[in-house]
Amino acid sequence: MKKARPFIAGNWKMNLGSRAAAALASELLRTLPAAGPVEVAVFPPFTSIPAVAEVLAGSHIAWGGQNLHWENSGAFTGEVAPGFLAELGCRYVIVGHSERRHIFAEPDEVCGRKVAAAMRFGLKPVLCCGETLDERETGQTFAVIERQLAAALPDSGELVIAYEPVWAIGTGRAATPEQVAEVHAWIRNWLRQLRPALSAVRILYGGSVKPDNAASLLSLPDVDGFLVGGASLVAGSFAAIVGCAG
Ligand code: PGA
Repeated sequence: MKKARPFIAGNWKMNLGSRAAAALASELLRTLPAAGPVEVAVFPPFTSIPAVAEVLAGSHIAWGGQNLHWENSGAFTGEVAPGFLAELGCRYVIVGHSERRHIFAEPDEVCGRKVAAAMRFGLKPVLCCGETLDERETGQTFAVIERQLAAALPDSGELVIAYEPVWAIGTGRAATPEQVAEVHAWIRNWLRQLRPALSAVRILYGGSVKPDNAASLLSLPDVDGFLVGGASLVAGSFAAIVGCAG
């Protein structure tokens, strides 16, 4: 099957306030080739989104939120509604990142509500899934991913899936091409059987993606791009990863 247009996403996590975020966005505009074969998006912290949007408006680089609440508005102190992100021109929103699931105890079912809320506002969810080291070592990888996908994926719609093994995030220890290939093929097969209308969605890999492992991972059949954390905070390394895809 022909591969989808690659998608390289930079998750800035809780880094870069408005000023630093705008500076990195400007540097990316200068460094990244203009609209080409690769789709690129960055995910700044909420408060930095307006500054980044101002820099990237009308460019080939999209932006999105790292999280959202599932209600349209209301008494949810400290939360951000999907419409607020849409109003800032976000095209994407990350849902169910492992740091949300594990540090903030976000359950699968909440991820499902967030996916639905994003779609109501025309935001494309980037739904993250992935097993912990303990789950991998006890043979539960596919059961965990199945549970996460089944709870959160609608029958159809525009979205992206990111496979991010928890043990590979921020550790410098990326999954091997064999491990990535196995899980991505499994996810693709699961989609074909249980969410046929989503069977062609892009499946990204995330977890210690760097310029030196990007090309080999991207050459795998069901790897359609990356969700990059640490390496997306430096324009040169993010651009090098985008370069591997284009
Ligand atoms: P990392 O993070 O690239 O720093 O491992 C990936 C992610 O959390 O999305």
